[in-house]
Amino acid sequence: MARVHLIATGGTIASRQGPDGLSAVTPAAELLAAARPPAQLTVTTSDLGTVGSFALTTSDLLDLVLEARRCLGEGVDGVVVTQGTDTMEESAYLADLVHDDPRPIVFTGAQRPFDSPSPDGPGNLADALRVASSRAARELGALLCFDGLAFAARGVRKIDTLRSGAFEAPGRGPAIRLAGESVLTLATPARPSPLPLDLRAELPRVDVVACYLGADASLLHAAVRAGAAGVVLQALGAGNVPPAIAEGAEELVAGGVPVLVCSRVPSGPVAPLYAAGGARLARGGVVFAGDLSPWQGRLLLAAALAVAPADPQQVLARHLTV
Ligand code: ASP
Repeated sequence: MARVHLIATGGTIASRQGPDGLSAVTPAAELLAAARPPAQLTVTTSDLGTVGSFALTTSDLLDLVLEARRCLGEGVDGVVVTQGTDTMEESAYLADLVHDDPRPIVFTGAQRPFDSPSPDGPGNLADALRVASSRAARELGALLCFDGLAFAARGVRKIDTLRSGAFEAPGRGPAIRLAGESVLTLATPARPSPLPLDLRAELPRVDVVACYLGADASLLHAAVRAGAAGVVLQALGAGNVPPAIAEGAEELVAGGVPVLVCSRVPSGPVAPLYAAGGARLARGGVVFAGDLSPWQGRLLLAAALAVAPADPQQVLARHLTV
């Protein structure tokens, strides 16, 4: 009989209405009971926390990945993590960056709370458990299962604040579709080799700086003053930034602080096209992050700095070309 371990961390899937709003209070065992998992599956549970995912820290994510690894070490066929949707694309991506096991870690959650008259959490959790125990999910790394689909971690984004179909992977699409009891493979996305990250050490600080019409370099400089070892630009369009930010980024790179460019546009890759925009950044040594969201780019740059402090660019180059 297949065995899956469920780790609960909180989020809307575990939330109930209280006098001040929603709070994530429901433990894993109750989430599981409501999901009514497939009869042919043995599911064990543990609670890592009961928080909204907007309150998680990067070191909480490292602890979560360590815990998922520990569970896989006990011989289960897969691990499911329930968490809030707000930062799920970050958790799944960090788990995926370091995942070196054929068995999957499947993240899921909900848009409507546990005590809603029509909760989506139980169905999402039942689907995630099915995916975690399925052969179709092997070798796919960390997945995010939601609303009848499962996405590879890399490239998945929350695209709706409240609707049940909260996630998409723009330009990439889902890897798996749930059809009743069946788990159907739609695509087998390539995965870069896992990074040998020490999960017990803090990740270097990397900040995301937003770009918008007329933005100056104040926030870029503030990030470095706050201790950022690298910066991600949430650039305009295909990777363009206002002139003051381009100048600031050139200075940072020249001073040994790596800068990664992602776009504020939800779909499509960045490319160094415009002489005074992206092409200027590329000439200055800024790295282009394909179609990675700024939030996933931030974790990649932090991991690259941790793994190869002297040459994070090399790690980025290897990762971004797969
Ligand atoms: N809206 C969020 C959720 O879906 C809140 C959070 O991320 O915890 O769970």
